[in-house]
Amino acid sequence: MEGTVYKSTGSWYTVRTGEGAFYECRIKGKFRLKGIKSTNPVSVGDVVVFEVDGPIENAQGIINEIKDRKNYIIRKSVNLSKQTHIIAANLDQVFLIVTLNNPPTFTNFIDRFLVTSEAYHIPAILLFNKIDTYNEEELDEIKYLANLYREIGYTCIGISAKTGKNVEKVKELMIGKTSMFSGHSGVGKSTLVNAIEPQLDLKTKKISSQHMQGQHTTTFAEMFDLECGAKIIDTPGIKGFGIVDMAREEIGDYFPEFFKLKGECKFNNCLHLDEPHCAVKKALDNNEVAWSRYKSYVQMLSGEQENYRMDIYGE
Ligand code: GDP
Ligand code: ZN
Repeated sequence: MEGTVYKSTGSWYTVRTGEGAFYECRIKGKFRLKGIKSTNPVSVGDVVVFEVDGPIENAQGIINEIKDRKNYIIRKSVNLSKQTHIIAANLDQVFLIVTLNNPPTFTNFIDRFLVTSEAYHIPAILLFNKIDTYNEEELDEIKYLANLYREIGYTCIGISAKTGKNVEKVKELMIGKTSMFSGHSGVGKSTLVNAIEPQLDLKTKKISSQHMQGQHTTTFAEMFDLECGAKIIDTPGIKGFGIVDMAREEIGDYFPEFFKLKGECKFNNCLHLDEPHCAVKKALDNNEVAWSRYKSYVQMLSGEQENYRMDIYGE
């Protein structure tokens, strides 16, 4: 039988078949890991082949194959072992919820998030939440940011999870897809999910604190089916996702507006720093590339990624 992993507690996996039946599955002893080495061989979102173990009414099974993943997001433990944990697989899109204040979301956080989503090949959408609370000046800033990121190619929506403004638009983007919500603690992730589907009652925080007890930093993601035909993957305790290990020369490729200009730089391995005849620097001088984006890029190049890891994983 084939199904999708909805939940994992480490040794048991809850698998849902296309018909909607749930099975509690284990992994066969000799199960071979495919692809990357991680602390969890099977993750939420994985499509697996399993066989029913014992009488069918038992609803238990044994997983013996993982289908190839379209993508997956990982976290690395911040301790010395640097073990990789797959948070979720086969995402169609990620939403980054941004607020100007309470809490502030800085552009370098947004940019690092977008770079990671580019590297993971997962489309990212920016949601500027709490628009009901901003004054005119702040609304102008939101407009400026939304425009900046729209020009690069990202979908941006101003929303209020509280008043329901544009929540329907978010819902429409989610139908038929598997999505994940990210953003700093307090930006309104739970409020938005509740606005989209009140019955769901995700209680992200509750799940999070429960899991944190005695579990150290292990996080268990869970997939939920919404009434509207959308799936969401809830990742308690995770505010963003970890940066993929990438070579310095690669980082610029994940800034779409830099990548577009790549062929125009004099050197094809141009890092867009002090090289002569750099198309990115020229675009920067002409205000065609935003300073905030370039600054984020230089920060990432200078190896401040480790801090970022701490930022998003440290609770
Ligand atoms: P999470 O940590 O990202 O899940 O954030 P929560 O959903 O718990 O929201 C944090 C706080 O912000 C709560 O007090 C919410 O009521 C509030 N909040 C969330 N969205 C909005 C919004 O659109 N407008 C206003 N005014 N408050 C909001
Ligand atoms: Zn260049």
